[in-house]
Amino acid sequence: MTPRRRILPVFIPHLGCPHACVFCNQREITAAPGSEAQNEPLDELNRLLDLPPDGTERELAFYGGSFTAIPASRQISFLEPAARALAGGRIHSIRLSTRPDAVDPETLARLRAYGVKTVELGAQSMRDEVLLRSGRGHTAQDVRDAAKMVLDAGFQLVLQMMTGLPGDDDDGAQYTAHELIALRPDAVRIYPAVVVRGTRLAELWRAGEYREHTVEDAVRVCAALLPLFEAAGIPVIRLGLNPTEELSGGAALAGAYHPALGELVRSRILRNRLEEQLSAMDCRGRTVLLTVPRNLLSQAVGQHRGNVLWLQDRFRLQELQVQSGETPEPILTIL
Ligand code: SF4
Repeated sequence: MTPRRRILPVFIPHLGCPHACVFCNQREITAAPGSEAQNEPLDELNRLLDLPPDGTERELAFYGGSFTAIPASRQISFLEPAARALAGGRIHSIRLSTRPDAVDPETLARLRAYGVKTVELGAQSMRDEVLLRSGRGHTAQDVRDAAKMVLDAGFQLVLQMMTGLPGDDDDGAQYTAHELIALRPDAVRIYPAVVVRGTRLAELWRAGEYREHTVEDAVRVCAALLPLFEAAGIPVIRLGLNPTEELSGGAALAGAYHPALGELVRSRILRNRLEEQLSAMDCRGRTVLLTVPRNLLSQAVGQHRGNVLWLQDRFRLQELQVQSGETPEPILTIL
């Protein structure tokens, strides 16, 4: 049996980051009174590396978005204990996330020397105008160049994109997805924009200069993106920000924050498929029976029966009945 995988996450804050990404509250976090952000991640790293073995396959993950943009000596202060733990079998792999413009052959050689396996790049958008308006400080070409360097150096590549940034729209998201697919990543993460307290995006939103990317917007956009990545054989390993107490407790002021966003998107993809199939059926005013595999039942019905109600209304059905059954694919039958 393959051992269970366990991520050991270490958040690396970027003190003194010269960039001003509109969605980032880094400055607020690191400026918080009593912040010991310089030492906390190292303490956390040592704590995680000291955990007794539990039979899981452990991957150490440096998150925070700009690992290779921090000073090299500080990178090494994290990488050295990580590499020792890797050599000693206490962890099994190392991944980190960084900015596309903070990648060069020398940096990548350092990461390889310390045993890093996976490099994640925050691409966010492949439209330069969106990157500019979002304060990212890099271009789409930086993403192309960095992705090629990462793959050429033999790392696994994960690309992160965002939807709903200032100046972006559904077409822009599709464009970004196609561009990312062309870079042949091993996986992608999609983060619909959330208006987080303490960010520039929050200021723009309050001033009426940014329209929030609602949960419905994110579900619609992502339901169109996921099938593109899946058709290209590229797994989407994360959809939406990880729920945290801080976000759920009020830091997410607006935007596409939903603890089950991935489930909502998969439910919408199924609804889109059923809509297409029902469009080819003469079903108005009739009762239709939908039979789905057991594991797709809740996705088919939708949150608060949303899919059933929407399809009933869209096709003026007498009723849409849903049942689970021994079928590999959803089947629609007019009764
Ligand atoms: S998200 Fe942008 S502003 Fe925030 S730490 Fe990373 S590079 Fe700096």
